[in-house]
Amino acid sequence: MDKDLPKRVVVKLGTSVLTCGSPKLDRSHMVELVRQMARLHQAGVEIILVTSGAIAAGREHLGFPTLADSMASKQMLAAVGQSQLIQVWEQLFNLYGLHVGQILLTRADLDDRERYLNARDTLQALLDHRIIPVINENDAVAIAEIKVGDNDNLSALAALLAQADSLLLLTDQQGLYSADPRNNPDAQLIPQVALIDDSLRALAGGSGSTLGTGGMATKLQAADVAMRAGIEVVVTSGQTEGVIERVCRGEALGTRFLPQGDALDSRKRWILAGPPPCGTLRLDPGAVKALCQSGSSLLAKGICAVEGDFIRGATLTLTDPAGGVIGRGISRYGSTDIARLLGAHSSDIESILGFSYGPAVIHRNDLVVL
Ligand code: GLU
Repeated sequence: MDKDLPKRVVVKLGTSVLTCGSPKLDRSHMVELVRQMARLHQAGVEIILVTSGAIAAGREHLGFPTLADSMASKQMLAAVGQSQLIQVWEQLFNLYGLHVGQILLTRADLDDRERYLNARDTLQALLDHRIIPVINENDAVAIAEIKVGDNDNLSALAALLAQADSLLLLTDQQGLYSADPRNNPDAQLIPQVALIDDSLRALAGGSGSTLGTGGMATKLQAADVAMRAGIEVVVTSGQTEGVIERVCRGEALGTRFLPQGDALDSRKRWILAGPPPCGTLRLDPGAVKALCQSGSSLLAKGICAVEGDFIRGATLTLTDPAGGVIGRGISRYGSTDIARLLGAHSSDIESILGFSYGPAVIHRNDLVVL
């Protein structure tokens, strides 16, 4: 294998890329994208495809029916369209002697550690057999509460799940611009991003197209998660000739988001990909320093305040005294217990609570510093 090629890549194709802006799947463009992925696969790159377009495919297959603007209509279209979509992918990859395997996920599959590990094993088994995993959200059954909601964020979670080296978000724009290129002729393409901050988020604004769900804002959210897990992210246009191969070969196309630090281990990736935090611990400066500089566990004596109502095992946000987020971790104690332990020494936990789950409130293996 070419040593400069990434080993494992998640390619996310938005609805606007699959339809080329029309109301139908553009099969001639899809075959071109498959050709590139098949060539990379041939060169030894493991490809995972995150595909949108189920709802668009459903509308097309049913002949564009007039439907109520309801959740049930969308779920019906997704149920019809997803089977069409996966058939198209299977047929197109077959042209290159490859098979696809469909994985439909929801937020709930990723929040539960056991289900997350099952999904990870299935992905690995597909890759081991040289089958292309094709992932989408399980739109036909997922309701808002258990949805990731957009395939940008879903693809970042898939990249964490698969421990990919790169995530390629293909869309209908060349990348992230310094202003909205549709109404600002001076807008400049931003070629590289090392850190996503509020000013960059302000640039991204809301969703751009009418067919898909995402926009630059969800792409930034996805990039933020993936970068923190040590995964490189590229956002660029799916219409550029040879785009997937060219990006994988290192050509500077679109906006490249640099990975921050090394790849995280499996449990820490799940802390980022898994359930959203349901509480916050505010730490004192000493604890912030111990976590950020020495990789220590979080002890009760470094916690100044606890917010939220949560049980042991919950994922929490950790902040500095000013409220700035410094990390995320899984708590060994529930919120009522932590409230009684604020500032206490680890050796006093048993006498204060009458029991102990160990000296650390969050063990360093359960903690990701951001
Ligand atoms: N899962 C949706 C679909 O296949 C797309 C979501 C998105 O475009 O972000 O239609």
